[in-house]
Amino acid sequence: MRALEFNDVSFTYKGSGSKALEGVSFAVNKGEFITLLGRNGSGKSTICLMSNGLIPHALPGALEGAVRIFGQEVRERSVAEFSKSVGIVFQEPESQLFCMSVEEEVAFGPENLAVPREEIGDRVEWALELVGMKGFNDRSPFSLSGGEKQRVAIAAALSMRPEMLVLDEPAYALDPVGRFELYSVLKELKQKHGMTVVLAERDPEEAVAFSDRLLLLEDGKIAGVGATRNVLRDPQKLSSLGIAPPQLSELAALLNSRLPGESFSFLSVEEAERTLSEDFFAQGRARRA
Ligand code: ADP
Ligand code: MG
Repeated sequence: MRALEFNDVSFTYKGSGSKALEGVSFAVNKGEFITLLGRNGSGKSTICLMSNGLIPHALPGALEGAVRIFGQEVRERSVAEFSKSVGIVFQEPESQLFCMSVEEEVAFGPENLAVPREEIGDRVEWALELVGMKGFNDRSPFSLSGGEKQRVAIAAALSMRPEMLVLDEPAYALDPVGRFELYSVLKELKQKHGMTVVLAERDPEEAVAFSDRLLLLEDGKIAGVGATRNVLRDPQKLSSLGIAPPQLSELAALLNSRLPGESFSFLSVEEAERTLSEDFFAQGRARRA
């Protein structure tokens, strides 16, 4: 069973004259980290909101095709039911925090599920530690920085023990430090916890280092999908879709254009350094010798 499956999905928001999604088909395997990329209005948020049933249950419209979340058709279950398996984090940290303390915030979901008190305590500690917010239990969410708020929002989603996490441009409102810490958490979720993640982004710079696949969107349609490394081999295509190519992709494209027969595609600075010192610099030394 797939974590998420979109089968020829089109959606028009109620009252809107145009389709927000058109003929979208893709699937996410369990344990996979997929990043949705596209400029504003390309359909990222619509896909996120459909991935836990908020569309069409809370935001109505005309939905065609089939969306399955862990095998359940989105129209056949409530958002409350999907919220047991899917956690969601939004752009604006303020919009999703409403409790008096960080601990209450992170305990809120499991309390609603009537999880035993002792287990709630364990889950809160586990989730706060995972997002690097251990010891912040009694702080007011409103006293935190944007990045800390987003990490509390992630902890609040994780304490439900979801099978899949959906994040809609979570770094949007953050400063560079907040962004760095947020992406460190996402990387850990992928590498240490094998979490199934759907991440929507306008800027792929950080996410490519730990995304298994990239899905490119334009005007509500899929403009490309593939393994991260392969999609990044075509930085011009990203630019044409209004997505700034990662700097390492531009470097790789430049090297490939200068070196016939090479087809570099780097996902991290470490990987670029390793590949170049083995391949390129070694050959250069041989040529010079
Ligand atoms: P993104 O997240 O990539 O910016 P969205 O999924 O928000 O894209 O938007 C896709 C399309 O749906 C856009 O044309 C947008 O204007 C439209 N749209 C988004 N939300 C609504 C809404 N609540 N009502 C009507 N149209 C909407
Ligand atoms: Mg959006």
